[in-house]
Amino acid sequence: MNNFVFQNPTKLIFGKGMLDQLVSELAHVGNRILLVYGGGSIKRNGLYDKVVAILNDANKDIFELSGVEPNPRVTTARKGIDICKQEQIDFILAVGGGSTIDCVKAIAAGANSEHDIWDIVTKKHHASSALPFGTVLTLAATGSEMNAGSVITNWETNEKHGWGSPYTYPKFSILDPVHTYNVPKDQTIYGIVDIMSHALEHYFHHETTTHLQDRMVEGILKTVIETAPQLLDELDSYQHRATILYSGTMALNGMVSMGYQGDWATHNLEHAVSAVHDIPHGGGLAILFPNWMQHVLDENVERFKKFAQRVFDIEQGELSDREVAIKGITALREFWNTIGAPNRLADYNINENTIEEMADKTVTANKNFGNFKKLTYDDSVAIYQASL
Ligand code: NAP
Ligand code: FE
Repeated sequence: MNNFVFQNPTKLIFGKGMLDQLVSELAHVGNRILLVYGGGSIKRNGLYDKVVAILNDANKDIFELSGVEPNPRVTTARKGIDICKQEQIDFILAVGGGSTIDCVKAIAAGANSEHDIWDIVTKKHHASSALPFGTVLTLAATGSEMNAGSVITNWETNEKHGWGSPYTYPKFSILDPVHTYNVPKDQTIYGIVDIMSHALEHYFHHETTTHLQDRMVEGILKTVIETAPQLLDELDSYQHRATILYSGTMALNGMVSMGYQGDWATHNLEHAVSAVHDIPHGGGLAILFPNWMQHVLDENVERFKKFAQRVFDIEQGELSDREVAIKGITALREFWNTIGAPNRLADYNINENTIEEMADKTVTANKNFGNFKKLTYDDSVAIYQASL
């Protein structure tokens, strides 16, 4: 295990009825609030009215930015930045899923900078501060509610990049599982795949002394595998929504990654697919992850065997270590198939025509990416081809 410093300043407010806590959280912030949300799900389920009522009762001046897209766009973040600068916004409130929260992180950093936000996203410049912001989460998936990361898409250049800064942790995040009851089945599935992918990205490294971290990641994976089919049978089950919501936060808030570095290659590969084809993040991950696993298996068969045995209870019997490892990869693919996740790029009408363009994007920023195995352009092409 490597040395580490851990600090996560986000206040997590979790449970039924906890939106009431917004009142006390708003007491500490300035008066001019920018309320940011997506395409309208919060208007349809009544959450918008509840949040606006709380803001009005607190005598806040409300400014709004709506229409944040799934795979949020830099152009939308720029609109929010303009509002913050023109209206001297004190505090931003994100109400929505990971896309809305990620967009708010870009707005918060851009509002306090003279640089264009795309230059911060692409790391030409770094954020040196950000406007404070809080979130009311409506979808279990990204962990963005309790981390500093953000993923932004630029449709002029067909690029989708992850970035973050010490200033882009939410001050607080309110997670009421009831707010996720209306998430449609397909988005619920994408969220489950994203949560599992974050756990998996943490799991594949070459450290051998991360015993507790391994058990925590395995715990998240086993819990999600156990709960997901039950949730998909009963989308308004408080208990199952709560379990998945909490799993999503824990999978990417830094709690399971202390003292080692995981591998984020599959996220890089997926961002390139989304940047060209605008597909749901979790859908892309479900297609790519088992193929990445197969591609890098021989880097560390022992690690994949551990995954197979600990997460999917594969028994060794007469099998070789490599056969056990492969059964683990197959079990993951079969599990995602049984919950209805996509498994081929063809499911999104993506064919070989854009493979080179996507592979190019995976290596634009870095020639090699990934940690478990350093991947090149040719590796990306091979993984996309296996995913067709
Ligand atoms: P999302 O893009 O925020 O939302 C997906 C869809 O679900 C939207 O159409 C949204 O509709 C709808 N929705 C959200 N809550 C709902 C509810 N309660 N009821 C009904 N519909 C609801 O999904 P996401 O998976 O949370 O975020 C995906 C983005 O996050 C991707 O860009 C991905 O790359 C990024 N990401 C970020 C991190 C990170 O750490 N920051 C990690 C992984 C992925 P409305 O727009 O109408 O609300
Ligand atoms: Fe993700």
